[in-house]
Amino acid sequence: MARIETVAVHGGERRPGPEGAVVFPIYQSTVYSVPPGTDYHDLPYIRLNSTPSQAYLHDKLAALEGAEAGLATTSGMAAITTALHSVLRTGDHLLVGNCLYGGTHDFLTEHAADFGWEVTFIDPQRPDTWEAAPNTKAILVESIANPLMRVGKLREVVEFARRNGLVSLIDNTFATPVNFRPAELGFDLSLHSATKYLNGHSDIVAGAVIGRAEHVERVRTTLNHFGGSLDPHAGFLLARGLKTLALRVGAQNASAQRLAEFLAARPEISEVNYPGLPAHPDHEHAAELFTGFGGMLSLRLTGGAPAAQSLIDALEIPYDAPSLGGVESLITRPAVTSHAGMSRADREALGITDDLVRISVGIENTEDLIADFTRALTEL
Ligand SMILES: *Cc1c(COP(=O)(O)O)cnc(C)c1O
Repeated sequence: MARIETVAVHGGERRPGPEGAVVFPIYQSTVYSVPPGTDYHDLPYIRLNSTPSQAYLHDKLAALEGAEAGLATTSGMAAITTALHSVLRTGDHLLVGNCLYGGTHDFLTEHAADFGWEVTFIDPQRPDTWEAAPNTKAILVESIANPLMRVGKLREVVEFARRNGLVSLIDNTFATPVNFRPAELGFDLSLHSATKYLNGHSDIVAGAVIGRAEHVERVRTTLNHFGGSLDPHAGFLLARGLKTLALRVGAQNASAQRLAEFLAARPEISEVNYPGLPAHPDHEHAAELFTGFGGMLSLRLTGGAPAAQSLIDALEIPYDAPSLGGVESLITRPAVTSHAGMSRADREALGITDDLVRISVGIENTEDLIADFTRALTEL
């Protein structure tokens, strides 16, 4: 099989493209003439996710993770909520990792009961504590959990799901298909905020569902009813971003590793959370599962929250902003941005204290980033 750099450029491409085009065009038509006998969900209509630009993007997404099928959605949250609605009915039980993306956490704590879903939070590091009940239908974890960059026992999640007949879902936004391809390990569905690394340029909102054809098809019919179909213009930008995914994430892996090592050695820094550091609690199994450790890291300073804010204010290259996965470096305090929706008690139970700083490493020159951090730390 071709390697990820080649798949990012050529995977899922139509060759030759329409009229011989090297770049797949934007098909703006909302509707197409219908071949006789077409099934409702295959009618070529834009909300039904069945038009040429959408089909092209779906094949490209599938190719990236070596999976059977792909589907684009209007956002990462649309991918997550639609996938959950496709596997859960009233009275069903869901197991979820206890350190989730803030939006997913809030969706489950604020809405799951309305749908009659029972939700149990589990520790993804401790397979011995997981239990399935007769009504348990699915398990959802994240490949690298924000913001302490914890990596669960993912192989054991797949085995547990198989043993108990559950659908296994993973939010693979942080690892990206460059570092981890869930289908290869046996996950049924991989979910992405394509707003982040997949698009990579902080200029669209989109999501992706990738995995076994039978499961992706069920998500597609649910999405067709809910209406969260991606517009072809955004889909075009996403496909363009995907072509440089391997180059971008390769650079971000390398730069984050160097920056993490540099920061861990500084006296002003008391803790660096990056799975590529041997001192990280999940380093060993992360190294077995992943081909790279990603571009996200977090840290604490010996000077606490005031020093954390001073560092953020003094840096010149990273923007003081949440979100992640773009070409520009971003730095933020999750307690006041991405996890501000959680109660203080819930946050602190997960280690998301006011002094925690999270960095999304961009593709700037690593030495320039290190020089910026050196200057800002010296000024503290
Ligand atoms: C951003 C993000 C989401 C939500 O994606 P949107 O595109 O903002 O809807 C879900 N999971 C993770 C891990 C994210 O970082």
